[in-house]
Amino acid sequence: MTPTPHIAVLGSANMDLVAYVTRAPRRGETVTGREFRTIPGGKGANQAVAAARAGATVSMIGAVGTDVFGARLRSTLEHSGVDTDLLRTVETPTGTAHIVVDDEGGNSIVVVPGANGTVKGLTPGDEALIASANALLLQLEIPAKGALAAARAARRHGVRTVLTPAPAQHLPDELLAATDLLLPNEHEAATLTGITDDPHAAARSLLSQVPEVVITLGSRGSLYAARGAEPVMVPAPRVTAVDTTGAGDTFAGTLAVALAEGRPVPDALTWASSAAALSVQRPGASASMPYRKEIDARAA
Ligand code: ATP
Repeated sequence: MTPTPHIAVLGSANMDLVAYVTRAPRRGETVTGREFRTIPGGKGANQAVAAARAGATVSMIGAVGTDVFGARLRSTLEHSGVDTDLLRTVETPTGTAHIVVDDEGGNSIVVVPGANGTVKGLTPGDEALIASANALLLQLEIPAKGALAAARAARRHGVRTVLTPAPAQHLPDELLAATDLLLPNEHEAATLTGITDDPHAAARSLLSQVPEVVITLGSRGSLYAARGAEPVMVPAPRVTAVDTTGAGDTFAGTLAVALAEGRPVPDALTWASSAAALSVQRPGASASMPYRKEIDARAA
């Protein structure tokens, strides 16, 4: 039996306010939605849930407000088995994500950071937790300062940092220098490199700054590249997508678990692709994330 890996996640917890529509409104237009749901989300919390459901011991570092959204996020994380001892409760309102999902399963999102904006550094307890983990998952819905402090702590303690550079933005060189595996989607890779429509070239360009890169390509799968090695392209299973919200976070959380278990990269990518394919067939972000047994059955 592989020992259960311990994954630390430093990142956002948001309440997703999701409207389901036939098609998204254009600027100045009002459309009538079919349904509305409040769904716990945020890239940090989502990746934490994905990793916990995939079988890891997961600890979440971040912040929520004193409001009802914060309490619900904490209890949802705990319900999925995520340790929330280092999830702070602060006076700033809980972060929110305003999501529109259309009939083709596409989405558009506005994020209001709120309490996530207070995650600017580490406490001694945060650092001790990162030091004890097998991997650190980071995204950028918290201040870059907070992400940098965590990545540097991970580097000091020999812990692998997996960074999802979302929302898309230019990254401080110091943060890239402290990152082991960069995990952008196509759009984020294009923002970072200026290269569009050529993931291989974008990956090669990113390898000048980080040792390993995985670019996710939606229904086309994912591309792994590492310095001095042949790139590996893993196609996504063919499925009917109903809601792709959270596909990237499912992929990130499950990939981190598989790599922390010591699986070879192609196996880890296939396993993460199976998990993400399961998630796009169901509505919601963290609500759609599969459990280890389902992933194993899909990947078999
Ligand atoms: P999102 O923002 O919707 O959470 P993302 O833009 O971060 O996702 P994508 O590249 O769209 O990331 O998707 C991540 C992974 O999820 C892909 O590499 C693929 O494995 C899987 N995936 C996404 N869409 C589909 C799909 N339609 N069918 C099968 N797998 C998919």
